[in-house]
Amino acid sequence: KSKEMTGIEYHFYRSTMVKHSLETVKLEHSLYRALDLNEFQIYYQPQIDTRQNELFGVEALLRWRHREKGMISPAHFIPIAEETGLIIPIGEWMLQHVCHQIKAWQDKGYPSVTVSLNISASQFNKTNFVETVKKVIVETDITPSLLELELTESLIIHNSEDTLNKMSELRELGVHLSIDDFGTGYSSLGYLMHFPIHTLKIDRSFLKDICTNKKNAAITNTIISLAENLEVQVIAEGVETKEQLIFLTSNNCYRIQGFYFSAPLSVDVLEEKYFYNV
Ligand code: C2E
Ligand code: MG
Ligand code: MG
Ligand code: MG
Repeated sequence: KSKEMTGIEYHFYRSTMVKHSLETVKLEHSLYRALDLNEFQIYYQPQIDTRQNELFGVEALLRWRHREKGMISPAHFIPIAEETGLIIPIGEWMLQHVCHQIKAWQDKGYPSVTVSLNISASQFNKTNFVETVKKVIVETDITPSLLELELTESLIIHNSEDTLNKMSELRELGVHLSIDDFGTGYSSLGYLMHFPIHTLKIDRSFLKDICTNKKNAAITNTIISLAENLEVQVIAEGVETKEQLIFLTSNNCYRIQGFYFSAPLSVDVLEEKYFYNV
């Protein structure tokens, strides 16, 4: 009965939340069932080191194949998942599957690549987050450093002591940490050096017009030297053109993720293109 909400119950349920379009509300309801219906899938986007022209990592990206609507972009449904709390079970599902995938690739003897995984703030802020990660790593028996958790800058700005503790615990587990969409938040640079991160990911928005927009070029170069000075890795994401690639590599950013090399791929296609003939 609880699943078949009547109009009244439904209104009551909505009244505690922000107003949404009917479309969003419908999407929210199908999101509740997406895990059970097996509608999620994980795609992996190659990350290339241009110095060796080699795959060094992949980013795991959630895909939702809705029965009627087809593919729905995470940009569209992740915010809904965050708001409804569904990001917690969905995030755990991602973590489990990604670690099993890492294990499967290890067992098949493929060259080891890091797999990065987006972690939403509410997922990270759950009290048992570190334990959950630890449990999954132990269960799947993976090399922890093959797992990289992508955090956002906003996480670092707020709630910093708790965040710092958790990050240190994760690092002790051997897991790698990166900051996604770097440059879009407002983290103070002085702050940044206290956090045990391995990688900064330059946000795509700076790269779009990097060859013509001097400000974005300057921001990008600042992030690259910041990473150099902090002795952390830097990855540029959203690289689509040869010009962007040339700009980045001539400014010492060699780790590239973007459509120029590849869109996110299903496991089968990724294995076929990147793992079979090496
Ligand atoms: P993100 O973590 O910054 O992921 C990179 C996004 O940029 C991906 O979009 C990817 O497909 C896209 N992208 C990569 N290269 C290019 C390029 O050259 N050009 C363009 N135009 N786009 C490129 P996607 O897969 O749609 O994901 C969007 C966002 O949704 C992600 O941004 C991430 O914040 C979130 N997301 C995806 N999967 C998960 C997940 O499992 N958990 C959480 N919490 N968030 C996720
Ligand atoms: Mg990401
Ligand atoms: Mg992100
Ligand atoms: Mg990003």
